[in-house]
Amino acid sequence: MKAYPVAPPWQGIKLELMEDTHLDPHLPAPELRRELGERIAEAAFNRYPNPAAPALKDMMRKTLGIDAKYEIMLGAGSDEVITIISQATIAGGGTVVSLEPSFSVFKNAATAVAGRYVGVSLNADFTLNVDALIATIEREQPKLVWIVYPNNPTGNLFPDADIERVIKAAPGLVVIDEAYEAFAGRSWLPRLSEFPNVVLMRTLSKIGLAGIRLGYAIGAPEWINEFNKVRGPFNVGVLQQVATEVMLKHFHVLKSHANLMVQERDRLFNALKAMPDVTPFPSAANFVLARFADSAAVFEALKSRGILVRNLYALHPLMQNTLRLSAGTPDENRQLIDALKELTN
Ligand code: PMP
Repeated sequence: MKAYPVAPPWQGIKLELMEDTHLDPHLPAPELRRELGERIAEAAFNRYPNPAAPALKDMMRKTLGIDAKYEIMLGAGSDEVITIISQATIAGGGTVVSLEPSFSVFKNAATAVAGRYVGVSLNADFTLNVDALIATIEREQPKLVWIVYPNNPTGNLFPDADIERVIKAAPGLVVIDEAYEAFAGRSWLPRLSEFPNVVLMRTLSKIGLAGIRLGYAIGAPEWINEFNKVRGPFNVGVLQQVATEVMLKHFHVLKSHANLMVQERDRLFNALKAMPDVTPFPSAANFVLARFADSAAVFEALKSRGILVRNLYALHPLMQNTLRLSAGTPDENRQLIDALKELTN
C-alpha cells in the first residue's frame, strides 16, 4: 500500500485539495470568531462526547435539508466514514467495486480491511462506461459499490439514468459520495427513499470546514445501525461537534463561498479552454482537471511561482499529463491563469 500523499505545509497559493480559500487567513466576521471561542470554552473537555450529537444533527437536518426518516452517521471527515463503511461491508474478503480514476482512498480502505477491490476504468474522456460497470457488478456480485457524484479527480457528473441502472444491478450497498454536492447543485438526496440499497456520503470539508474533520453518511436507519456496530463509539469529539454547530449557524457564509467557487471554476475552465495545447474537462465540482502538453513541467513551473496544484499522473494511466486545479479566490485564480498563460504560450 501507499499512504495517501499529502504535501508539506505551503506558504504560497494552495490550490491542491479543494479547500475553501475564501476563509483564509482568518474567519471573516469577528462576531463569528467570538462565538466560536465562547462555545468551545464552554465545552466539557473532561467528558466523552455524546456520540448521538443531537444538537449538531438537528442543525445539520435544518441547514442541509436532511429528512427525519433518514439517520445520520458522523465521522472524522468522510475519510473515516469510508473506513467504517468498508469495515461494515467487505472486511475479510468481501468485494468492492469502484471506478477509476476516482477517489483513491476507497482502494486503501478496502485493502486495510482485507476486502477484495475491483476497479472499473472510465472511458478515455472520463465518461462512465456503464455497460462495463454493470458487467463487472454482475460478475463480481460486490457487497459495496462506490460512485462519486461529481467524480474526483475528473469533475464530471455521471448520467443519472446510468447510475440508476447501476443501483438496480447491484446486489449490495451502493454509496454515492457527494463530497462536491455544494458546487454541483445536484443530489440524490431527494430520491434516496426510492433506493433501499443506497446510502449518501457527504463532507463539510469542501465548504470551509476541512480542518474540523466532519463527514457524514445519510441513509435508512437499518444501514446506519449496521455501520454503528464498527464505528468507534466516541469518534467525533466535542470540539468538532461544537465548532461545526456554530459554523452551520452561519451557513450562508459558507454557501456564498461555494457560489463564488462555482463562478471561479467556470472562469478557470474558460481561461484554460482558450490556452493553446490545454484541454480542460467540464466540471461540476470546485476544481478543474486539465490536460497539458507536459504536466510535470507545468506543475514545477507553477510551484516555482508559489502556486501548488495537484499532479495526479501516478493515480491512473488515464491521468497522464493532467493537473487538478482547485478553484480559489478571484485573486488566486487570476494569478494561476496569468502564470499558465505565460507557461503555455
Ligand atoms: N470523497 C471524495 C470524492 C473526496 O474528494 C474527498 C476529499 N478529497 C473525500 C471523500 C474525503 O473528504 P474528507 O475526509 O475531508 O471529508
